[in-house]
Amino acid sequence: MRGAAFMRSLGIACGLLAPALAPPALAQVVLPDWKTVEIRTHDLGHGIYMLEGFGGNIGASVGDDGIFLVDDQYAPLTEKVKAALARLSDKPVRFVINTHWHPDHTNGNEHMGEAGAIIVAHDNTRKHLMAAMTMADLAPLLRPSPRALPILTFNDTVTFHWNGDTVRVVHIPPAHTDGDAIVQFLDADVIHVGDAYFNGFYPFIDVENGGDIDGMIAFLSDLSAMAGPETRIIPGHGPVAGREDVIAYRRDLVTIRDRVAAAIAAGTSLEDLIAASPLADLNPRYAGEVVGEADVLRMVYRSLNRK
Ligand SMILES: [Zn+2]
Ligand SMILES: [Zn+2]
Repeated sequence: MRGAAFMRSLGIACGLLAPALAPPALAQVVLPDWKTVEIRTHDLGHGIYMLEGFGGNIGASVGDDGIFLVDDQYAPLTEKVKAALARLSDKPVRFVINTHWHPDHTNGNEHMGEAGAIIVAHDNTRKHLMAAMTMADLAPLLRPSPRALPILTFNDTVTFHWNGDTVRVVHIPPAHTDGDAIVQFLDADVIHVGDAYFNGFYPFIDVENGGDIDGMIAFLSDLSAMAGPETRIIPGHGPVAGREDVIAYRRDLVTIRDRVAAAIAAGTSLEDLIAASPLADLNPRYAGEVVGEADVLRMVYRSLNRK
């Protein structure tokens, strides 16, 4: 699970957007040889599945009404994703929900939309995708086309009555970005939370696009209250999690936040803070080659300093 390819799948999008502003490590992320990527399917019961490939975890509801997807990874993987789905159902993909705008979650939109799926996202996610269409820094492969845009957007919540389940799509206050949506499959007791939660890695906070460390901590409090003891939580990256994982992660994010806040209050520069390695005790648990200690310090420092 901590393989190099897996680590690279983390936060790929984010770093390629604004190299001048983003943590350098993220700008160095290399896309894989798509031919070698395999889609692994995890059955979560009640017709809900999680698909892992390269990029953000995909959620899928499968049943008589058709396939309902949460995120769609990268365009070069669409055929593989469809092949994995075809092993679960002969129905078409009818809806794709984007949890936020990053390419590792939305780059497959174009193909899915062309095949007839309705793309749904928060209002801000559509705005960010439109802005990304003209971003010179974004690699051409990752630049969304007009056909990749969500055609149905919402500002707060939208509920689907689909495949016998009640599916609530809820916009959360700014956390990973300012357009985050989570998807609750109420009857199946599964929640896809996008990149507002990573299982086993330091968080990525897209500060340029409204991301906020305090918002992320507040969301994790809400998530641990919302989840029951049996709830399966699909993170943006990492394996399926439970409530206790979220509680532990939130506690560690509070620790990180408080250490950075104390350094800011003491007048410590970001460079001096990074040099002091204040997260040495947490690195074994969370540091990866994409979001390392310096990266998370930089993002949290900037998120707190903005206030
Ligand atoms: Zn992601
Ligand atoms: Zn993301």
